[in-house]
Amino acid sequence: RSLEPDLESTKTRLESLDKAHLWHPFTQMQGWQRSQPLIIERAEGCYLYDLEGRRYLDGVSSLWVTTHGHRTPELDAAIRHQLDRVAHTTLLGLTHAPAIELAAKLVQLAPPGLTRVFYSDAGSTAVEVALKIAFQYWRQRPDPRPRKTKFVHLRESYHGDTVGAVSVGGIELFHEIYRPLLFEALTAPEPHCYRCPLKLERPTCGMACAEELGRVLADQADDIAAVIIEPIMMGAAGMLAQPEGYVRRVRELCTQHDVLLICDEVATGFGRTGWMFACEAEGIAPDLLCIAKGLTGGYLPLAATLATETIYAAFLGEAGDFKTFFHGHTYTGNPLACAAALANLALFEQNNTLQHVRAIANYLAEQMDRLRPLRLVGDIRQRGLMVGIELVADRATRTPFPPEQLVGYHVTNRCRDYGVLLRPLGNVIVLMPPLAVSTAQIDELIDALQTVLTEIEPELLT
Ligand code: PLP
Repeated sequence: RSLEPDLESTKTRLESLDKAHLWHPFTQMQGWQRSQPLIIERAEGCYLYDLEGRRYLDGVSSLWVTTHGHRTPELDAAIRHQLDRVAHTTLLGLTHAPAIELAAKLVQLAPPGLTRVFYSDAGSTAVEVALKIAFQYWRQRPDPRPRKTKFVHLRESYHGDTVGAVSVGGIELFHEIYRPLLFEALTAPEPHCYRCPLKLERPTCGMACAEELGRVLADQADDIAAVIIEPIMMGAAGMLAQPEGYVRRVRELCTQHDVLLICDEVATGFGRTGWMFACEAEGIAPDLLCIAKGLTGGYLPLAATLATETIYAAFLGEAGDFKTFFHGHTYTGNPLACAAALANLALFEQNNTLQHVRAIANYLAEQMDRLRPLRLVGDIRQRGLMVGIELVADRATRTPFPPEQLVGYHVTNRCRDYGVLLRPLGNVIVLMPPLAVSTAQIDELIDALQTVLTEIEPELLT
């Protein structure tokens, strides 16, 4: 398409400045230099628009964050309203209404027993905060157990990219290079029925992965501060859906061995799975809950770590007791972000968002049945509007495509030609549309994917 001369020069200028100065996250910049970057200019509802006005369905909610859509009038208004008062002040020594109101609202919505809210700015920092709180809690509680310093995580887990969060992560590609920088953590096999790490099958396995975690706890409980999991579905690990009852069993094991349970709901929280928090699907409450992403509806960076009253109480003392939680970021509890979060949560109620997610997720499941006959579709894993479609080189043997073939990348890149923006995790095509997505938009999404997969299948499977 030919562009207006002004537009052409704007595009050329932005592209060259981007390539000259901008270092993109999780991106091999050498490849980026050869690519034609897509420059997003504006958005509306579930769509993003590039500089040329081309429209794309936001199939991954701008990295798993958008709830009610882009430019939701109520969220825009709430931020403007707050902007007329104060854009930023601090929670270090002061307080403000949006942070207070939001903390109360989060406690009301969260699983029972989580009564204290500590703000930070990203999913990684919410995890970092949970790890530090868990560590410090065991040293400071009335009968201290200072030996309890270790963390257990699932082998393929992803909990963020700061040093503590990477230490409890297991995705080799992201973590190997930083190994010497990390603290040691204990691991348990991830519940991943399509590629069971224990080479067992449901239901005869008796959920041996959970029992393996139980063995780690039984052996070393005196040294373990906490277990960290993503409940019901592991996101960045490749959208690994957990068997029903897994989270409940982990909760039981943690209680039995006197180990804290940290649930990382950075990806699964705020309606994504059809529950406000995924823990609710299994009727459990963790000791620490990490939330971020959907908290502000996809508008502004804000995260929180929720804790129980018992944990909070261990941090109380006189100044000289040095029991303070020594943590806090400059923008912790930013008023604009808290105002956006409050408006976001109000809309969940007004729009019956959870009901909508459950209905539209059923519709999505039906539509995805169209993809099942394709030979390269190995497994479809879904929890609400959180989906992973794993592409395989051989369906019978579940043989994966080699990572260097960048199959997921090629598929999602072609989807752009059909007006759909996606971002894969290796060979897994991730579908995470905004929670407000309509049936017509689901059709658009699956039509595009079906077309691209049908086109590409003969090229990949010769
Ligand atoms: N935890 C989980 C489960 C995540 O999916 C992510 C990000 O994808 C994070 C933590 C890190 O969040 P952030 O990228 O906001 O630091």
